[in-house]
Amino acid sequence: MDIFLTNSRSRTKERFTPLDPANVRVYVCGPTVYDRAHLGNARPAIVFDVLARLLRHVYGAEHVTYVRNFTDVDDKINARAAETGRDIAEITEETIGWYLDDMAAVGVAEPDHMPRATRYIAQMVAMIADLIAKGHAYEAEGHVLFAVESYADYGALSGRSLEDMIAGARVEVAPYKRNPMDFVLWKPSAAGLPGWDSPWGRGRPGWHIECSAMAQDLLGASFDIHGGGNDLMFPHHENEIAQSCCAHPEGSFAKVWLHNEMLQVEGRKMSKSLGNFFTVRDLLDQGIPGEVIRFVMLSTHYRKPMDWTAEKAREAEAVLRKWRALTADVAPGALPEAVLRAVAEDLNSAGAITELHRLAAAGDAAGLKAGAQLLGLLTADLGDWAVAGADLSGLAARLAEIRAEAMQTKDFSEVDRLKAALVAAGVEVRMSKAGVELVPGAGFDASALEGLE
Ligand SMILES: [Zn+2]
Repeated sequence: MDIFLTNSRSRTKERFTPLDPANVRVYVCGPTVYDRAHLGNARPAIVFDVLARLLRHVYGAEHVTYVRNFTDVDDKINARAAETGRDIAEITEETIGWYLDDMAAVGVAEPDHMPRATRYIAQMVAMIADLIAKGHAYEAEGHVLFAVESYADYGALSGRSLEDMIAGARVEVAPYKRNPMDFVLWKPSAAGLPGWDSPWGRGRPGWHIECSAMAQDLLGASFDIHGGGNDLMFPHHENEIAQSCCAHPEGSFAKVWLHNEMLQVEGRKMSKSLGNFFTVRDLLDQGIPGEVIRFVMLSTHYRKPMDWTAEKAREAEAVLRKWRALTADVAPGALPEAVLRAVAEDLNSAGAITELHRLAAAGDAAGLKAGAQLLGLLTADLGDWAVAGADLSGLAARLAEIRAEAMQTKDFSEVDRLKAALVAAGVEVRMSKAGVELVPGAGFDASALEGLE
């Protein structure tokens, strides 16, 4: 099966050929850990989880190395510690735990490596020293800066010239910078802020160098795929490339760059001031199952803006309940070719979902389950919420039976009693001549049904 991916670097869809099929290597920029993951943070985690599932399917689970980091040294973390009076390590530890729980709830499997920046300070210091020795970085007033003019390809990923960037970017002007686009590799730490000893005094790394150092350490100077949100393309990814290619000219850093588009809520940018800002945990606490969140995310191609709406969540919930009921006691069959082909075609998860609808309509439960699991849907881990949904057929039969009796006796009290109990449990009751259909609604509570049959 050929995989095609849109490489941001070439701006074209390319046939993917791994550097080493026995070890396909992927790096994705992970979260800065000072707060709960918002809904937008879940998008890259889910998209690149599907990429990892596809690569593992095609090359074998043992032949893929997937790295996603935690940024646990950052000024936002320092600010949170100052605001709350809490210890930095306590904040980052707690936030990492939240992140892993919330991502597990939306079906994101843990990558092979989840390096934390603070455990790679020695590698970062060595890389910075190397960049200085090779003439790509310089020390000034306790800072070390990368000299962008020393790297001819700077800007190639985002397709901008250095002049354009200076004109368009809000760069921090500092007297010690030779070029306003030069960026920080190391900066001094005042007392009370996290700091490590270095040849340039006590300080802490800039954000960009951590990904370069961790990717080098875990994946080598050349690897296959680098992923992240398209908001990271400039300057973060541009800077990663510059650092890595200058420190390790023997390698080419990432061969393919994948960028997911951003997320909106009900057609607008998600923001606290608009009142449409959600964390993943907010939605889970509102009773929206993680599997529903995942389904909605995957129903839009990763290179298109994703619009989260309550309507989409309701529709996804209804679809998943049906699919869960259809596949409840069925073992996954062979992976349907059409689903694999869609996912291999630049991670076309929306196209794969269309194929899943086709399989469901055809009653191919084993194929549906196998295809859905390539997307991380209809898995055993995510199904608890829908289990009761599969059992409503018994209650539907019971209601049909007492309704038939009531037709004879003209006493509908028993029908009304059961119907009221079902509605109270969040079940939509549809009665027609053809029969009785029970559909769990948004507020469905399976526990309220206990003892009704
Ligand atoms: Zn990064």
